[in-house]
Amino acid sequence: MQHDVQNKIYLITGIASERSIAYGIAEVLSHYGAKLILTYQNERFRERVETYGHQWNTLATIECDVQNEASLAECIRAVESLECKLNGIVHSIAYADPEQLQGRFLDAITRDGFLKAHDISAYSFCALLKAFESFLVPNESAALTLTYLGSQRALPSYNVMGLAKASLEAAVRYTAANLGPSGIRVNAISAGPIKTLAASGIKGIKSMMEQAQERSFLGRNITTREIGETAAFLLSNYSSAITGQIIYADGGYSASAL
Ligand code: NAP
Repeated sequence: MQHDVQNKIYLITGIASERSIAYGIAEVLSHYGAKLILTYQNERFRERVETYGHQWNTLATIECDVQNEASLAECIRAVESLECKLNGIVHSIAYADPEQLQGRFLDAITRDGFLKAHDISAYSFCALLKAFESFLVPNESAALTLTYLGSQRALPSYNVMGLAKASLEAAVRYTAANLGPSGIRVNAISAGPIKTLAASGIKGIKSMMEQAQERSFLGRNITTREIGETAAFLLSNYSSAITGQIIYADGGYSASAL
């Protein structure tokens, strides 16, 4: 992978902590010699993400709250000012209000909860690709998002996020169709459960992880580093024939009938 992503430039969203999936992706891409542009949601996270960025080859650390049009516009201007093209975008963003992610789906779901989860977790992927399409190098770029099995199966507590992830996965196919003629690929990684800040908001994440460990073919949970390696593959030319796909990186859990 090294020679393929080396010196390429990737915009990476969604680093909230060292446990973030986006952190694992940034670490692996950086290890392979890529240059990174990192975004954070708001001023509260600036210092932390800048500190992470110091250990990698980071060109810039930019604020981007995907729910806020002005913040997105400012982010585009900041990337423009770097006068560089992009070889890839990593969308690693999701949010639903905590009360949405517990109890019976029909009791928890509200119009506001539905709209917010879909806005931040699914529309934002389309918004980022719309905003940065012209920055992506034809035939040398790929976009990537993160999804979860709850889009395909009804899982306890995942609730509205399952709907948002189903929408996100459809967006992968529609954007792949749009960008394919330019040789730009779009895929998603469906990751097994990992204890991150976002996952901690799901009631029952502990039992989701225990089940994944018990029932996956590999008999263990996966790591953010492993997702990083899968991401490096999907962002590199080694995956040049793969687009519009949901790639499962879950130790085989989704394929098991146990
Ligand atoms: P995480 O570390 O908490 O990352 C979630 C990120 O979303 C955070 O950086 C958060 O930023 C960001 N975010 C939320 N609202 C935002 C907004 N309005 N604008 C910009 N950024 C915003 O959790 P994670 O598990 O790594 O999640 C990354 C992705 O992987 C998500 O799409 C998640 O659904 C997916 N995924 C996770 C798992 C898992 O088990 N962990 C499994 C499959 C898929 P702030 O913290 O700054 O708010």
